[in-house]
Amino acid sequence: MTANLVANPTLSIVIPVYNEEDGLQALFDRLYPALDTLAAKRKINYEIIFVNDGSKDRSAGILSKQVELRPDVTRAVLFHSNFGQHMAIMAGFEYAKGEYIITLDADLQNPPEEIDALTEQLLKGHDYVGTIRADRQDSFFRKFASRAMNRLRENITRITMTDQGCMLRGYSRRIVDLVRQCDESNTFIPALAYTFSANPVEIFVKHEERFAGESKYTLYQLIRLNFDLVTGFSIMPLQIFSILGMLLSLAAGSLFAYLLVRRFVLGAEVEGVFTLFALTFFLIGVMLFGLGLLGEYIGRIYQQIRKRPRYVVQTVLEKK
Ligand code: UDP
Ligand code: MG
Repeated sequence: MTANLVANPTLSIVIPVYNEEDGLQALFDRLYPALDTLAAKRKINYEIIFVNDGSKDRSAGILSKQVELRPDVTRAVLFHSNFGQHMAIMAGFEYAKGEYIITLDADLQNPPEEIDALTEQLLKGHDYVGTIRADRQDSFFRKFASRAMNRLRENITRITMTDQGCMLRGYSRRIVDLVRQCDESNTFIPALAYTFSANPVEIFVKHEERFAGESKYTLYQLIRLNFDLVTGFSIMPLQIFSILGMLLSLAAGSLFAYLLVRRFVLGAEVEGVFTLFALTFFLIGVMLFGLGLLGEYIGRIYQQIRKRPRYVVQTVLEKK
């Protein structure tokens, strides 16, 4: 085994890491043997790029030790603070040298042994390998919510992904370069990559429970991520909104006309006051939601025009 980093790996594995100290060793124990077997079997070189997304625990230290242990195939990109899973993957893409790039979660929810199946599809010439989690091991709420989001996305974007949440995915070099060119501040990488794919394929992969630690996504972050997914790839919510606004004002206008006529024919009404209240509150609700939705888009425009760096790399650990 050479101590130097392989110069031209065929396969790059990109793994975002955020506070995963309890699970990293278990990941190494399965990832390296799986990849060594794969490399020998398919006669290709690989590299692993860990991106530490500003972990507050010992993750960075554990990664730097691993770079020492397997300098031939390991690099670690360290962020000084947390920029989110998708930005971590984006940084991994920047440093990846492989012809094929596969992303993987650090928590062992995506079994490293499945990398071989993705590699096979990439070698066959598919430029995008999506995955569907067979028997997904997550809470009922997560499964239900992501099914609902999947359906919504399917209807308002042209992206067809059976299982949008699974981050074990394979991309060709061309797709990764295109994704990097996009320069988007908020994005959902699998969806963005899909829009560039010419020959995508989906395969079933196993899904396991998180090996250690907890999900790094709070309910709030999941909602944010889904707004990224929807508003990043479709303006249909805004369009639906203007249609809804049109219909509602039409309805409100007719109601007003009806009440005006009724007042002259039957005299003033009092009982209907509460119906009016109900209607008003409904309209206020719709308006507020509309404002919020506008805000989502405007917020993105704002972030985009500021052109701040999307992430800041502190150091890259590698043996040249
Ligand atoms: N992650 C990250 N930055 C974050 C949140 C998560 O790099 O801000 C990483 C995390 O370490 C893991 C992957 O992204 O490798 C998926 O996170 P998690 O397992 O918490 O998400 P879930 O499986 O619950 O969707
Ligand atoms: Mg997970």
